[in-house]
Amino acid sequence: MQYPVITATPAAASLSSTDPQLAALLAAEDARQHDKIRLIASENYASAAVREASASRITNQYSEGYPGARYYEGQQLVDQVERVAIARAKMLFGAEHVNVQPHSGSPANLAIYLAFLKPGDTVLAMQLAHGGHLTHGSKASITGKYWNVVHYGLDPETRLINYATIRELALQHRPKLLIAGHSAYSRQLDFAAFRAIADEVGAILMVDMAHFAGLVAGGAHPSPVPYADVVTTTTHKSLRGPRGAMILCRAEHAAKIDKAVFPGLQGGPHNAITAAIATTLHEALRPEFADYAAQCVANARALAAGLIEHGFEIVTGGTDNHLVLVDLRNKGIAGKPLAAALDRAGLVTNYNAVPWDDQPPQNPSGLRLGSPSMTTRGFREAEFRRIADWIARVVDAGLDDAVIAQVATETQALCARFPMP
Ligand SMILES: *Cc1c(COP(=O)(O)O)cnc(C)c1O
Repeated sequence: MQYPVITATPAAASLSSTDPQLAALLAAEDARQHDKIRLIASENYASAAVREASASRITNQYSEGYPGARYYEGQQLVDQVERVAIARAKMLFGAEHVNVQPHSGSPANLAIYLAFLKPGDTVLAMQLAHGGHLTHGSKASITGKYWNVVHYGLDPETRLINYATIRELALQHRPKLLIAGHSAYSRQLDFAAFRAIADEVGAILMVDMAHFAGLVAGGAHPSPVPYADVVTTTTHKSLRGPRGAMILCRAEHAAKIDKAVFPGLQGGPHNAITAAIATTLHEALRPEFADYAAQCVANARALAAGLIEHGFEIVTGGTDNHLVLVDLRNKGIAGKPLAAALDRAGLVTNYNAVPWDDQPPQNPSGLRLGSPSMTTRGFREAEFRRIADWIARVVDAGLDDAVIAQVATETQALCARFPMP
């Protein structure tokens, strides 16, 4: 007997009919993202195409291994998808080798430790309290427990990275791995200076561009790729893709990196995310993406300038990238209550430590703001100036409820004019 040819799949049962409780929560989240001005520096709005790819049926498949060398049959199409993602990443960033499988930024970073280090080896990286990342050797992270991480911080005078100090620490501690990159530093990095320090002490240079990868892709930030042995990045921050990560490296490190990701740390890749990364990179290769990247920087600068006019102190005095770190100490208000008040006013931010913060990380003295999400929605300098005005109004009113309510109606009205993807 022959099986009938199925020409149409049965009507898909929608989430709202099978699980109304969850559907309602997700619909409410859509509304939240639409109605509020999102200023979390690590967030964005992925396009409809990226979300479609990330929800595609390729998620149903197992693909341990790499294209052409898998442990399962049925890889005809996923191999092509992964090869497309890799080829686009190589083209976009000019990298010799790319691994698109890390599940997120933290596992991508851990893969670098696994690839190049033995437990207990010495690493030199930026300290968390000055804008580094947990995976750069914080004691709370596996990276700080299994490796001997020495930290550099910012210059106490300028609050900028001081390359002479990093060099001194490198000469003193002879790290095997030198890490550049950050989550809360608003200036560009001098990758040539990092390269020279790494060469002097024979260290591997890793650049973690998780935050500013979109700016690099769009030409609004220098690229670390020509300088670093290995570059890690998330795909969901300024790059505007699905939640995932990539590792870019020199060809000589390719085998080590691939082995560290699989089988070193992970099993099967998230194929739908690989597909969505491929589409993200396709978007990032288009000329409009350069406009977006440049606008991210212009918008962050407009926000910083507006805040300075209102008497706010910006760490390093401004920004060269997509983020602004506000030191609130001269305003006599802490980061956490302000972030909570701003959220009620329709301005979503996060409290953040500032360098040499005298308050604990649970209630630090800073506020971190970022431009990528609202730049994606079409905000320009004028809208970011208004954001600065609203923040000042809330602060100057001492977080007064009536003022917060008034600002909330104004922020929502502005959002209504800028559709979300
Ligand atoms: C966000 C970030 C990461 C980690 O990314 P996750 O996807 O949250 O694990 C790593 N490094 C830096 C510098 C980051 O900003």
